[in-house]
Amino acid sequence: MAEIAQMFGLGDRAGGLLVSGGTLANVQALTVARNVKLGCLRGGIAGQAAPVMLASELAHTSIQKAAMVLGLGLEGVILVPSIQGRMDVAALDAAIHQARAEGKQPFAVVATAGTTVTGNIDPLPEIQHLAQAHDLWFHVDAAYGGALAFSPDHRHRLAGIEGADSVTFNPQKWLYVTKTCASVLFRDLGLLHRHFRISAPYMNTEADWVNLGEISVQGTRHPDGLKLWLSLQHLGKAGYAALVDHGYALAAAMVDQIRQRPYLAQATEPEMNMLCFRGCPPEHPAEAWDAWNTGLQQFLLAEAEVFLSLPLWQGQRWLKAVLLNPFTTVDHIATLFDHIDRYAAAQGAS
Ligand SMILES: *Cc1c(COP(=O)(O)O)cnc(C)c1O
Repeated sequence: MAEIAQMFGLGDRAGGLLVSGGTLANVQALTVARNVKLGCLRGGIAGQAAPVMLASELAHTSIQKAAMVLGLGLEGVILVPSIQGRMDVAALDAAIHQARAEGKQPFAVVATAGTTVTGNIDPLPEIQHLAQAHDLWFHVDAAYGGALAFSPDHRHRLAGIEGADSVTFNPQKWLYVTKTCASVLFRDLGLLHRHFRISAPYMNTEADWVNLGEISVQGTRHPDGLKLWLSLQHLGKAGYAALVDHGYALAAAMVDQIRQRPYLAQATEPEMNMLCFRGCPPEHPAEAWDAWNTGLQQFLLAEAEVFLSLPLWQGQRWLKAVLLNPFTTVDHIATLFDHIDRYAAAQGAS
């Protein structure tokens, strides 16, 4: 885990833990953040002025779950507006000031590297800068996008993550490791010993290894590290780089196809191997577009054996593609768009 933390540039004191899922990883990171920033290992949040954390409106729902578990409630997460799928940094700055003016106590900012619906990356350097200026814990939820650290061609997209206090990274996503395999990394693993650890006196306390059950929310767990280690032996970092880069090539091919068709629109500019698009056929009124796209999704499943999911994003139905399969080719993408044209023609759009 220390080696993986190094890949994110977290430095020599960094390390991490494997836990059962990204949700638990976020809960663990934000618990440590709260304990460190509010000094509340012993007293909890009783007597603390309204502790709050800030995250983009597109952050994963596990951030809100963490707020519930931490005793902050849903109002303990201030949701910051986004632009083109990425956190609006000016709005973040304003939200921090406003929270303080209202007597609240911001203690952490969560940035997302790989949002759930559109795979966008919050502006990490700017957010890190603001977190530092306001003395807030900086957590990056890179559950999905952390895999970019393996690609020399694309890791620059994570620039700024090296300034994180903690990072959530799920190898069970873009590293193709069988579920569950998720991790939480800390810039200074020693903080867990000072601000989280509960020693288990019934265990061998003389041991020179760290009992992970003492420094994490989760106790007993599966040996998920073995699956990650074996996958790394099998594919190597170069193998993972090739898989990540292939996903980018497919996403670029898809964007190319979408741009050739004026009746298709993209939700955001893709930054990973996933993207959302929808038909906006001018022959039909805008109120009919959700139904048009729902029909297209069904048509593609029946006629093209392609499954696109149909998320609701900013109040509308979009078709979402996740380009993870290493056996998908640019030709498959071209064929998919032939089918989309067929559907559009049959519906009376060109
Ligand atoms: C998947 C994901 C999570 C949650 O991970 P689980 O393993 O399902 O608990 C959290 N954040 C982001 C950004 C994710 O993509």
